[in-house]
Amino acid sequence: MATILIVDEPALARRLASLLEQRGDRLLEAADGEDALRIVRAENPELVLLDILMPKMDGHEFALRLRAESGRIPPRLVFLAAACIETGSRDLARACGAERLVTKPVRPEALLAVINAVLAAPRPGPGNPLPDPGAIATSVRLIASKLYQRATELEGLNTRLDLHAANCAERLETARAALEQEVTKRLWAEKELTQANLRLHDKAMRDALTGLNNRGYLEESLDRETSRARRSNQPFGVMMIDIDHFKRCNDRYGHAAGDAVLRAVGQYMLSLARGEDILCRYGGEEFVVVMAHASPGTVLERAETLRLGVQKLRIECDGQRVGPVTLSAGIAMFPDHGENGQAVLLAADAALYRAKQAGRNCIVAGNASKPQR
Ligand code: GH3
Ligand code: MG
Ligand code: MG
Repeated sequence: MATILIVDEPALARRLASLLEQRGDRLLEAADGEDALRIVRAENPELVLLDILMPKMDGHEFALRLRAESGRIPPRLVFLAAACIETGSRDLARACGAERLVTKPVRPEALLAVINAVLAAPRPGPGNPLPDPGAIATSVRLIASKLYQRATELEGLNTRLDLHAANCAERLETARAALEQEVTKRLWAEKELTQANLRLHDKAMRDALTGLNNRGYLEESLDRETSRARRSNQPFGVMMIDIDHFKRCNDRYGHAAGDAVLRAVGQYMLSLARGEDILCRYGGEEFVVVMAHASPGTVLERAETLRLGVQKLRIECDGQRVGPVTLSAGIAMFPDHGENGQAVLLAADAALYRAKQAGRNCIVAGNASKPQR
């Protein structure tokens, strides 16, 4: 086991120390030449591993000062030097007393091999003349010029990297702007598509003649209303309405007049409706009204208002008075007359049939066989 002093920047010294730990040596660390001299005097290490370029005192000066100190066997010296200055400094290092010079960045196996070799080799004999100060100055100038050359190269590299980074940033910004534009375009397209789909759905669910919803919409809504009524434990009413003797109306006044009657009845139904009611033209001259959260009494009352109001409508077509028009209606309630929307609709249709049987222009509610007049 040897005592080894490592002299380098603290982070690098730490790294070297961890490389050497496996040898089992006693490792000391110093951050500069002054510090290192103090430790050498106090601890007398067998080997000093030091970087040539150090603050306060360079490696050569350290080596010469060490040699000048008499009365003690000096430690063995191994220099570390950056690759760019290594060639010029090798002779000088030797002249100063360094036994080996290791190139940075240090390869662990190479460093271990060098240390093993130095510690195993006999000490070089004394009498190595001190290098001529002129030779040191020349060598230091050479090192300085190599460092300057390396610094210039690094500066050039730095400028190229800056340019490259600026170029990348510009390209990134262009790509980002293009992407943002594309995303905005797609969001708009998606929004337009959604709106077009909604318009299409609305059109598909609407009767062109009266503007009321159609049978398709009713079928969609009945399931929804049934679920809602089940959840809230509330009833809903279905009214099936049919214009009486509509065929006669067509025959007498013409098809266009019949259309005017359908439009007028639809408009009148709309004028009586609440926001949550669903109004549909079910087919031909038949209409359906679904009344959510309504009691049987409320549904019957609405049907009566409708029946009486329709008789009084003033309907004209091409300047000709059409009518009067009457209607019959059947009413059924969820859940009293059916366990789901379709069953309630069928029950309302059956009630309408009974209203027609009872002589038309009347309302039949639920299971009653006769109109409630
Ligand atoms: P009831 O009192 O029994 O209901 O007799 P009705 O004449 O009203 O019933 P019927 O089913 O015999 O006739 C319905 C008529 O409605 C026959 C059909 O030509 C007419 N119709 C169906 N759709 C339209 C439409 O869009 N416009 C017009 N003008 N007539 C229509
Ligand atoms: Mg009919
Ligand atoms: Mg009819």
